[in-house]
Amino acid sequence: MAETFLVTGGAGFVGSHCVLALLARGHRVIVLDDLSTGHAAAVPEAAVLVRGRADDPEALRRVFALGPIDGVLHFAALSLVGDSMREPYRYMAENARVGLALIEAAVAHGVTRFVLSSTAALFGNPRRIPIDEDEPIDPGSPYGESKAWLERALLWAERIHGLKSASLRYFNAAGADPEGRLGEDHRPETHLIPLVLDAVAGRRPPLTVFGDDYDTPDGTCIRDYIHVADLATAHLLALEAIRERSVRYNLGNGQGHSVREVIAAAERVTGRKVPHVIGPRRPGDPPALVASSDRIRRELGWTPRFPDLDTIIAHAWAWRQANPDGYGSRASAAASGPGMAR
Ligand code: UDP
Repeated sequence: MAETFLVTGGAGFVGSHCVLALLARGHRVIVLDDLSTGHAAAVPEAAVLVRGRADDPEALRRVFALGPIDGVLHFAALSLVGDSMREPYRYMAENARVGLALIEAAVAHGVTRFVLSSTAALFGNPRRIPIDEDEPIDPGSPYGESKAWLERALLWAERIHGLKSASLRYFNAAGADPEGRLGEDHRPETHLIPLVLDAVAGRRPPLTVFGDDYDTPDGTCIRDYIHVADLATAHLLALEAIRERSVRYNLGNGQGHSVREVIAAAERVTGRKVPHVIGPRRPGDPPALVASSDRIRRELGWTPRFPDLDTIIAHAWAWRQANPDGYGSRASAAASGPGMAR
């Protein structure tokens, strides 16, 4: 049955791919995004775009005036580990304030289902790899801390207001829509795979590898890269599951790749060398983060379609080649409007 979902941060990387997946299932989607980092051009035409912050009462009033909302998916957040080490109080305050305001508005308007974009950064120094949901939460950065707080806030929202929620801890979201409609365009870009691909294309200086003296087999950090389309599928499954009960899942492929392995994969995919230099460690980076996603596989039947790193990079490369400026001027032109709906 078609439902209506509010997606904050729906103009961002993971949010926009989830909007696409919701629309493909025949749902109605309202995107609430202040376009501070997202792109209006990343919001599919079939969605309604409301420009505003998710803690702005006026923006929330406009959203909820559009009609009953069956569920909220909350992507909008400050999301960079490194920045959060430099500006810890801004990160923690903003992510908490925005999340709490949105949860409050959701329960006030009778919303019963809420999906939170959470993060592998909940686990700063995991005891066991791969990391399952029994791993104690011990964030490695103020960014991770802010998401841990929101996961806790959702426990209270359920106890007090009966709001059911899913906290989905993404490991490293990467790739692009396999059909090439959407991709990854952060400004500034800080994520490994887009930086590697831009270095290959000569659009940026050589990649700096952040440390090669970690206690890992090749000395560089290990991460679990997950295709953004597989993340989107997990959101659809979670929205169904939380009709019954709240859930928390770690989302990755269960396979770690070092920075050097990502470089090697990009060289295979593009057929070109990745210019790179070795630099110092980036504060807040844990040496290795790999997910166990056994729980969501077992409980919801989630099966990633694109677990292979080369495929993830190939999709990112295809989008980047077709859109060398990312969302380019389309983004800024569309973003300059007053913000309400099309
Ligand atoms: N990384 C790097 N050089 C860069 C950007 C990232 O070596 O210019 C490394 C980073 O230290 C981490 C991995 O690549 O080990 C993934 O970083 P990213 O910022 O993409 O995601 P994060 O793991 O911080 O969410």
